[in-house]
Amino acid sequence: MHVYTNRPEISNAVAKHKENGSKIGFVPTMGALHRGHASLFNFALERCDVVVVSIFVNPTQFNNSQDLETYPRDLQADLELLEKINPNLLVFAPGTTTIYGSKIKSIDYDFEGLNMVMEGAFRPGHFEGVATVLKYLFEIVQPHFAFFGEKDYQQLQIVNKLVAIEKLPVAIIGCPISRHDDGLAESSRNMRLSQSHREIAPFIYSTLLKAKELFNDKSIGDVHQFVTNAFADSTLKLEYFEIANASTLEHTESKKANELYRAFIAVFAGDVRLIDNIALN
Ligand code: AMP
Repeated sequence: MHVYTNRPEISNAVAKHKENGSKIGFVPTMGALHRGHASLFNFALERCDVVVVSIFVNPTQFNNSQDLETYPRDLQADLELLEKINPNLLVFAPGTTTIYGSKIKSIDYDFEGLNMVMEGAFRPGHFEGVATVLKYLFEIVQPHFAFFGEKDYQQLQIVNKLVAIEKLPVAIIGCPISRHDDGLAESSRNMRLSQSHREIAPFIYSTLLKAKELFNDKSIGDVHQFVTNAFADSTLKLEYFEIANASTLEHTESKKANELYRAFIAVFAGDVRLIDNIALN
C-alpha cells in the first residue's frame, strides 16, 4: 500500500491514474479508524477505480485544545487496517505544515446559517476548520467523488455548500451510519469511554428510535419533552436535542407536509462528547 506524506507525490500519483481513465474516490478521515470508516472505504471501493484515504487530525476544527490533544492517534494501526481492507488504497497522511504552511488558520465562509446551529453553535469555528481543510485536501487530491458519513450529517451539508461556493469539480456522496450491534454509532471517541459509559451509551440511539416513533403522531414539543426527560436521570448528559429540516437544518417547531425532518443529538459521557442523528420521515 502506498503512503504519501507530501503534496506533489500524491497529486502526481492521482494524476497518473486519471490519465488512465480511472475514477478517483476520496475519503477524508482523522484516523483512529474503525468499522464506520471502513464502511466508507468499501462504499468508495465499490464505486471508484482508485480510492484515496487521507489521515489528518485537523487542528482548525477543534474549538477545544484539550479535545485536540486527547484525540486518539495511531497511524500504525490505521495503516494495518487499511492494508487489510484493500492494499491498493492510496493513503495520504500529511503533517500540519504540509496542509497549512506556517498559518494554521481557517477561511471565513458564509454557509447561510448551516454553520450556526447544533454542532456549529456548540463548537464555534468547527465547520470553518472542516471546510478549510477539505478545500485544501480537494485541491491536492482532485477526486471525482468524495465520501462522507451521515454520522456527521451537518458536516455533510456543509461540504455540499463548500463545493457549491468554491465550484469544486467533485461529487459528494453521503454514506449511511455504521453502528455497533447494540446501536451505538461507531466513533473514534468510543474507545475513550469508561466501561460504564460504554454500557449505557446505546441509550442514545434507542432514545432516537423512540423519538422517531413519537414523531409520527405527537407534536415536536412532546418529542423534545420525551428526550429531555429520558436523559434527566441518566449519567449521560444531554447537550442538545434538535429536530430540524433535513436539508436547511433549520430548527422546526411544527411539521410541514412534504418536508423531510431529522433529529440530532449531542451527549456527554463523562468528558467524551458523542453525536448521533436519525431520519424521522
Ligand atoms: P472522522 O475521522 O471522524 O473525521 O470521520 C471521517 C469520515 O468518517 C466522516 O465522513 C465521518 O462522517 C465518517 N464516519 C465516522 N463514523 C462513522 C460511522 N459510524 N458511520 C458512517 N460514517 C462514519
